[in-house]
Amino acid sequence: MSNKVHVKTGDTVILRTGKYDYKFKNKDKDRLTGKVLEVSPKEGKVIVEGFNMITKHVKPTQMNQSGNIVRAEAPIYACKVQLVCPLCGKPTRVGHAVVDGKKQRQCKKCGKTFE
Ligand SMILES: [Zn+2]
Repeated sequence: MSNKVHVKTGDTVILRTGKYDYKFKNKDKDRLTGKVLEVSPKEGKVIVEGFNMITKHVKPTQMNQSGNIVRAEAPIYACKVQLVCPLCGKPTRVGHAVVDGKKQRQCKKCGKTFE
């Protein structure tokens, strides 16, 4: 399996369901799209806003005497998500095209290119 990550920070992605028995800790079914917050190409993982929420216990510090329980996103494999085309709004596979000498990504659905 390749570690290449097909999405970038700031991309909107949709969770690919069905094929994978990936267990998400939040069962909120309405929350299937989100923004990519972080990409780790080395691990082939992404952190997506609202996806795979975990509860973290933060130890008390001088600033925060009582400690805290925070909800945070845990990384998921990039292959679990699919890019949502910023131009046509559909989940799509990404191709590549060169426009005016610049490498661009291309939506396989509408054929338009974007960065
Ligand atoms: Zn498109």
